[in-house]
Amino acid sequence: MKVLKFGGTSVGSAQRMIDVANLIEGNRNIVVLSAMSGTTNSLVEISEYLYRKNPDGASEIINKLAIKYYEHAEQLYRTSEYKQRGNELIACHFDYIRTFAKDLFTLFEERVVLAQGELLSTGMMNLYLQESGINSVVLPALDYMRTNKNAEPDPVYIREKLNKLLDEHRDADLYLTQGYICRNAYGEVDNLQRGGSDYTASLIGAAIHAEEVQIWTDIDGMHNNDPRFVENTSPVRRLHFEEAAELAYFGAKILHPTCILPAKLNNIPVRLLNTLQPDAQGTLISNVTEKGRIKAVAAKDNITAIKIKSGRMLLATGFLRKVFEIFENYQTPIDMVTTSEVGISCTIDNCKRLDEIVDDLKKFGAVSVDADMVIICVVGDMEWENVGFEASIVNALKNIPLRMISYGGSNYNVSLLVKSTDKQRALQSLSKNLFN
Ligand code: ADP
Ligand code: ASP
Ligand code: MG
Repeated sequence: MKVLKFGGTSVGSAQRMIDVANLIEGNRNIVVLSAMSGTTNSLVEISEYLYRKNPDGASEIINKLAIKYYEHAEQLYRTSEYKQRGNELIACHFDYIRTFAKDLFTLFEERVVLAQGELLSTGMMNLYLQESGINSVVLPALDYMRTNKNAEPDPVYIREKLNKLLDEHRDADLYLTQGYICRNAYGEVDNLQRGGSDYTASLIGAAIHAEEVQIWTDIDGMHNNDPRFVENTSPVRRLHFEEAAELAYFGAKILHPTCILPAKLNNIPVRLLNTLQPDAQGTLISNVTEKGRIKAVAAKDNITAIKIKSGRMLLATGFLRKVFEIFENYQTPIDMVTTSEVGISCTIDNCKRLDEIVDDLKKFGAVSVDADMVIICVVGDMEWENVGFEASIVNALKNIPLRMISYGGSNYNVSLLVKSTDKQRALQSLSKNLFN
């Protein structure tokens, strides 16, 4: 059995949904759907109005979104019976969203509102498949996808519940399920964070020991650079799990950063495919390394660099621990680290506790902060005994000021920190020098 995940743009219009239906029918696979494109953003906006106790603002967006769905249903279904069933489904979800304008609005209600996008897309697709004579079954994610008290997925619970559901519906032609949404350890509706449908797919893949996890989106695989900033990028045919994880973590939006781990742990290949070009080869992510090749570049925005300069670091033991403990105390993860005998530079992407961190760090030396930075991450098989790859990376960036350079944490990545104003130039120059 395979797990096929279709993102927002892949189900974003009636025609796209029909194309997806054509791709999935005939195979007894599990199909994970995101909300239709733009929906989760609208639901976030609705929630913001409700937090601010502005029901009229919320209402305006709810009505606009509902109209989009009614139009979608009108184009999607052929018979009046299914048009009516589609309209009833839409009315049911939007009436429910409207009820939240009346009461206290908290994080709990927000998560319920955010869940409606995936519930709608799977409900609508299920009706379309049934209208086409396919015996599809919706496996409700809220019945099996669960996180524990640390907000991490609970693989044992997921495996047991999901396999039980599959067993109960052994006769189905195919299974549909919602990406992104789950319940937390307290049984409340929750989610796997924005973009988390990719994570749903790989968690399901791990739970059922799937033959393959396929992530279907609007581009033909992982490109060798970010196509939103660089022209003429091209798809990378094969990636190692580690390479894909680094690229996803450092900004390649095509893949959610959490998606790779469950697949890697269970050695399940992940294939990135294009709904608009279903025959294109895409990218295969597995445990195979292509020796000595630089594969791709990605960039992670909104990075802040912090430097602590201290004479006390010289020959001292425990200095790094004391510094890192401060970040830990404020629950702020560090991305990049570089050290010298008299100081440390590290980067964070969550600045909520920056002032407190800087105050505490001042105990150890002079502290300086550079905001608005970007981590550029170059990924490939860069085993340290291979010569030349660092030189070609740094040479490609010879005209750009580099605030930090980091290599040696893994064999798969060289990271460089630049000003956000230099990001596009850096990405373009790396493409030109490494791939052309
Ligand atoms: P979905 O809605 O299907 O989950 P996303 O928008 O999350 O799709 O991801 C697909 C987008 O990722 C592409 O349209 C592309 O603009 C962007 N992207 C960023 N970096 C890369 C990359 N290295 N390779 C391919 N796509 C990338
Ligand atoms: N619908 C959710 C989002 O837009 C999850 C996803 O698409 O993966 O973030
Ligand atoms: Mg995505």
